[in-house]
Amino acid sequence: MSGEQLKSMTTVYFKKADYDYPILKPLVFEMLEGILGDRIRPQARVLIKPNLLAAAKPEQAILTHPLVVRAAAEYVLDKGGLPLIADSPGMGSFERILKEGGYKDAFDRLNRHVTLKPFKATVKVDIGEPFGQIEMSRAAIDADMVINLAKLKTHTQMLLTLGVKNLFGCIVGLMKPEWHLRSGIDRNLFARLLVQIYRAINPAVTLIDGILALEGQGPGKRGTPRQIGVLVSSGSAPAADTAVCQMLGLHPHKLPTCRAAKELGLLDASPDISGDFREVPNFKLPQMGPLAFGPKRLQPYLRKHLIQRPAVEPAACKMCGECWNICPAGAITPYEEAIGFDYDRCIRCYCCIEICPHGALQAVETLPGRLIRKLTKLDR
Ligand code: SF4
Ligand code: SF4
Repeated sequence: MSGEQLKSMTTVYFKKADYDYPILKPLVFEMLEGILGDRIRPQARVLIKPNLLAAAKPEQAILTHPLVVRAAAEYVLDKGGLPLIADSPGMGSFERILKEGGYKDAFDRLNRHVTLKPFKATVKVDIGEPFGQIEMSRAAIDADMVINLAKLKTHTQMLLTLGVKNLFGCIVGLMKPEWHLRSGIDRNLFARLLVQIYRAINPAVTLIDGILALEGQGPGKRGTPRQIGVLVSSGSAPAADTAVCQMLGLHPHKLPTCRAAKELGLLDASPDISGDFREVPNFKLPQMGPLAFGPKRLQPYLRKHLIQRPAVEPAACKMCGECWNICPAGAITPYEEAIGFDYDRCIRCYCCIEICPHGALQAVETLPGRLIRKLTKLDR
């Protein structure tokens, strides 16, 4: 890759924005055009990959806003391409997510020209060592182009979920928690998995919806929406993620996916930042416990007694079953009026917290964990 090509790949554009569609639409067009130029050919199959984690309203800031996605779909139509909007939600009906997430309304009059559906079929793709062949969405692999539409959110396991992590949705359905399990509780290994998935999908452009972002205990309903008023785009998701870290006052090296992207040679240069960049003061990052520390043979013991564990707020739990269905370790048991955790089995992947539609779960410190963290200052 030439120096000029690398420079244009790693340029990150910031634009002040809000969800007022007559203003938003030309802005999204301009940001996509700036990176894609005339690369969308007539009849090209263009996959638009938003974040459709679970059923949530736009004002909860959990999903990529439907109007950002609509503008991207209109851009593809304008170029003569065939837009497919797809994701593999953590759990729950895709239809319900579209309805509650405002997608049904946003796409009302475009529906004849745009396909919205969940990923289903898979294909094995070799993403490189140590993971080898993994099953990924066939629609993502077969698309002529992928447009990655991420949400700016905190994440209690990976700190932030931005452009790179958004493509984990190309792992279909229950295979996601299985990969959590196979990557164990090593955050760096999981970050490497995410970057290798990103590399395999190779989106042409990443656009991050940071207009209404999510801070605090994201990425689900425990997070707190925060107006930041910005869209961020780049030909390189690691570059976009790096620039967003800088905007939030976070050293990019602290974001596991940025570290892994650098190690894998996907972040050769510092991003060249352009447009309405301004630092966001006091952005609340999530409380995260270390996922693994100490000698290996002691880790099951350490994990059980020292690492934050999922816990339920019984009054908020509706016994809907989403958590025990997604748990990759079979560590959640439904009883008559409440759920119970087997902390010996629980691998602390926090999928249950992420998926709970009622915000009934959270990660809580154990008493010994709190004491040891205080003594050793293991907090980040
Ligand atoms: S904790 Fe949440 S996901 Fe689990 S059963 Fe209760 S409401 Fe459903
Ligand atoms: S109980 Fe929750 S945190 Fe523990 S393994 Fe199951 S899904 Fe992961």
